Formats: sequence, C-alpha cells, structure tokens
Amino acid sequence: MTTAQPLDVQPTPLALLLLGRESDPRSERGVECPGDLPAPSDPDLVARARAAKERLGDRVFVLGHHYQRDEVIEFADVTGDSFKLARDAAARPDAEFIVFCGVHFMAESADILTGDDQRVILPDLAAGCSMADMATAEQVAECWDVLTEAGVAEATVPVSYMNSSADIKAFTGKHGGTICTSSNARRALEWAFAQGGPAGDAKVLFLPDQHLGRNTAVRDLGMSLEDCVVYNPHKPGGGLTVEELRAAKMILWRGHCSVHGRFSLESVRAVRERIPGVNVLVHPECKHEVVAAADYVGSTEHIIQTLEAAPAGSKWAIGTELNLVRRLANRFADQDKEIVFLDKTVCFCSTMNRIDLPHLVWALESLADGKVVNRIEVDPETESFAKLALERMLSLP
Ligand code: SF4
Repeated sequence: MTTAQPLDVQPTPLALLLLGRESDPRSERGVECPGDLPAPSDPDLVARARAAKERLGDRVFVLGHHYQRDEVIEFADVTGDSFKLARDAAARPDAEFIVFCGVHFMAESADILTGDDQRVILPDLAAGCSMADMATAEQVAECWDVLTEAGVAEATVPVSYMNSSADIKAFTGKHGGTICTSSNARRALEWAFAQGGPAGDAKVLFLPDQHLGRNTAVRDLGMSLEDCVVYNPHKPGGGLTVEELRAAKMILWRGHCSVHGRFSLESVRAVRERIPGVNVLVHPECKHEVVAAADYVGSTEHIIQTLEAAPAGSKWAIGTELNLVRRLANRFADQDKEIVFLDKTVCFCSTMNRIDLPHLVWALESLADGKVVNRIEVDPETESFAKLALERMLSLP
C-alpha cells in the first residue's frame, strides 16, 4: 500500500494571471484591475457614461478598437485598427486623457506617440493580447544571441508587428528594424530586405506573429515556404540548426493570434458548401493554408472597405473577430449584402472583451472626479527606441 505524499503544488502564475488575480505589470496578460466597478446590472450605466464624458468634454478622447463590444464602441470618438487609433491619438495633442478601449500594447503605442503631458488610460488593466505575450524581452534577447552565434545577426533586420509589447518594439528600434501592421507588412518587409546584409544575404526576424510573416513573405514577396523557418523560444537554439538559420530568409517567431488561429481549411470548405457563391475574406493573421484557400485577404480596415464596396446581392464569409463581423453584418443588412462569420463556433477576442461598460464608466467617472486610474506609461528609454521603430514604419515608402 502506498501512503499519500503531500503534494508540492505551486500556484501556476499563468492560471492566476488569466483569472485576473495576480499582477504582472510587464505582461500583456493579466494585471489586476483595482477599480471599484459599478454592477453590470446597473440600469444607469449608459446615462452615467454619457454624463461622465460630458463632464470631461474636450479633455478626454475615447478610442475604440474594431474588436470592442458594441456597448463600448457607442462611446468611442473614433474607431479603427491599432495603427489608425495610435495615429488618431497622436493627432489630438490637446486631449489631456486618451481612454483606449483596446488592449495593453495599443495603449502603450498611444503613450509612445502622444505628448508627455497626455495620459493614456486602459479601462481594464487585464485587457492584454495573448499574441503579444508570446514574445518577451528576455526570449527575444536570447534569440538575438542565437543569431549572433550562428553568424547571421549582422544580416538580420527585425520587423515587429504592431501587436507586440513596448519592450519588443524597443528591441526592434535598437537593432535597426521597423514596426509593421497588417496593412503595410509588405512594404515593411521590402524595406527590411533592401537594407541588405553584408553579402546581400539579408534576413528578417519577424515578431511575434508567424502567420502574418509567412503570409506576407509567400503571398506578396513570392518566397517559398522553405525560405521561412520558425524560431521556437521554448526550445534550445529556437529548435533550429545553424544551417537552417543560415539558409532561411524569414525567421518567424513562434507566435500566433488565438482568435484568427482558430479558422481552418475545414471552416472554408464548410462555408462554401453551406453558401454557394460565397466570397471568403480573411485576415492575414490566419494560418497560411486558410489564407491560400480564401478569395481575399486583408487587414481589418481592408475588410471594412471591401464590404463597403461590395455589390448588393453579394455573399461574404469573414475570418476575423466576431464583434466586428457582427457589426458589419448589421450595418450592411439593409443593402442586401449577406455577411457571415467564417467559423461555426463563436470566436470573440476574450481580452478585448474585458473592456465592458462598467470598466468604461468607472474610468470616465474617476477621471471626471480628478482621479487618474489605470494609466499606461512606457519608461523613457524603452519609449525612445520603440519610437524609433515606429517612426521608421511611418516613413516607409
Ligand atoms: S484578436 Fe488576437 S492579436 Fe488581436 S488582441 Fe486579440 S489575441 Fe491579440
């Protein structure tokens, strides 16, 4: 008979962070929100949000990402993708408070691009991005050491997706690289390869979304899948041999979006069978096989513009976040455009969804009462290098 041994169980930080019960201010993932929030059942929430916003007047500028809930979007002064919103924030130097209804990395980018006297507020500090969390500063520094030892770092230009922490943006700026979005990834890669290595053997280290990197390299730059290797930060040497690193043109970080990564070839096949004549339009954060099977591919802004220009009677299956797809379906319903979600299962971005009306009301009322809450502030050194990388993106040809 065996006697039960006491279990040496350590709390898993990840689980606690996901539950919003632990704090990790350096993480995108979970930082406890200290607020005394109004109850979601409070029937006056809409009136309270409106009143607080009125009290603040021009002192506040509310940004709403396309993936936010309708109840929050209703109070946004502007809506857009992460890049558009960062630019919108920068274009309002008179606003004392920028309330960012989005996720942590977006609020950081807004802080980097706005003046020192402006304060950026994230209504729920636990609204992070799982993709951005897949590349930490320590892991990326270790990767650079691996590239240096393999003799390829000098020829490598980092290109980081907007969906990354300020630390990763700063690494990118420090090492001569640029930031990109899903709208300008092609131009960013062309620019990076044009920087050239010492022997014309330039490589790109693409962070943190392997799918956007691969899709852009293969679809837009005509590379082969074999030109791309995946660096796994959880394996020694990234799980790659020196020869593989030397032969690669694109070194893709092993990160992905948990929302767009859910779409599969089966989703595309099933929707084509269900809706004859349907156009499949997906975001480039989807897997390569999904992008290859789709009819059209593009950023969130591109998806919106495509649907605006679509003829009456057309049918569309959209592979992106559900809040946006639902809003677009409602918006175009009276124009005889059939718009459905690409997958059968519900697929919200759970961290985007953390910003709800109670959090927004709490943030706005606190600001109106003179209490600055949930401020997102990037330290000056990180900010200066991250800004360098962002400015390189802004000056891309
Ligand atoms: S949709 Fe994906 S990339 Fe965007 S915030 Fe959510 S997890 Fe991050």
